[in-house]
Amino acid sequence: MNYKALVLIIVTVVYLYKLLLTWIRMRSAHNPVPENVADVYDGETYRKWRAYHAEISRLEIISSTVSYVIDMVLLMFNVYAAFAKLFADTDFAQMESVVLLSSLSSLLLIPFAWYRTMVIEEKYGFNKATAGTFCADQIKEFVIGLFLMIGIGAMLMGVHQSLGDWLIVVFAGIMTLFTLMFSFLYPFFSKIFNKFKPLEDGELKDSLTALLEKNGYRVRAIRVMDASRRTTKSNAYFSGFGKMKTIVLYDTLVEAMTPDEICAVFAHEMGHGLHKDTLRNQLFSLLQMIVLGVLAWLTVRTPELFTAFGFEGVNYGFALLLIMSVEFALISPLFGLLFNYFSRKAEYRADAQAVKEGYGEALVSGLKKLAKQNYADLAPSPLLVKLEYSHPTLSQRIDAIQK
Ligand SMILES: [Zn+2]
Repeated sequence: MNYKALVLIIVTVVYLYKLLLTWIRMRSAHNPVPENVADVYDGETYRKWRAYHAEISRLEIISSTVSYVIDMVLLMFNVYAAFAKLFADTDFAQMESVVLLSSLSSLLLIPFAWYRTMVIEEKYGFNKATAGTFCADQIKEFVIGLFLMIGIGAMLMGVHQSLGDWLIVVFAGIMTLFTLMFSFLYPFFSKIFNKFKPLEDGELKDSLTALLEKNGYRVRAIRVMDASRRTTKSNAYFSGFGKMKTIVLYDTLVEAMTPDEICAVFAHEMGHGLHKDTLRNQLFSLLQMIVLGVLAWLTVRTPELFTAFGFEGVNYGFALLLIMSVEFALISPLFGLLFNYFSRKAEYRADAQAVKEGYGEALVSGLKKLAKQNYADLAPSPLLVKLEYSHPTLSQRIDAIQK
């Protein structure tokens, strides 16, 4: 089999699929807005929304095309193997060099991220980040990403060399532990990017505490995050596990919503907890890790995959690249389809929990404010919702809440 051609074809298919999704998204900007969400944007804001989404989509088409061309050049001309030859011949140095080149090549896409944040988002009034914040974020992300990939590469190498065919089970196990650890440590990681303050005493804190206590739901703290340092968009989430859970509110959310609306959003989040939705998500990620384990196993026992790209034998950095950006990239839309199907059902159930707590109306007005702040698409194509929406559309949710 011609492995090189196969890999290049897959990279092309993944790229074309991405273009297709962007094209569907651009077309749906002209869909009529459902009546129950017609009051989210006024006429002027809606015109701005359309212009904003058109600009973002055009930028996405250009940046994914550039990224595709870079990938194709690196692969077609065996650049990874040539670069690896500059380094010592140990398996670790060889792995590291490929990870390094792949990270460096991703730096070429930073101008597009810059344009998105500092030019487009700035123009529409979302951006709050300064050039300094933007650059600091990029440097932090680059360093964290590089070390993470080297860590995973070293693990793949160690597991394969010492345990052979047990790779699938052990790789999947370690990766699962890794993701669990990451969500456990998420509160600490997020401090690299943001500052957190305890929620001030007052009406909001009292109502949130009452709501949590009534349902026997324990959290360690309620914190406010300085999201406004970067954006005017807003959100809220639970982080951590079990009794270590922390509620995080964006300061932009606290600013824009009434205490009742914030409680409604949290009654919804609590609904996820009561229905064990996080557990389902974790099982799902375990399944993904098993698939990654199988792909890793198949990849490292096919030396032709490496010789086809100029390597002399297995390179664990290149293996990682093939597993994540070629093989898994090809099947991940299928996972998305399945995951999003269950996720949208869970969202309806969580909304129902908020309604049960008496926050139905507040949830509707809160969700409308969130949609407005985040410039949400009010009438996305139904096909796109099936393919990549983890949440039902605002209009569908309001319909269900009012029923
Ligand atoms: Zn939810």
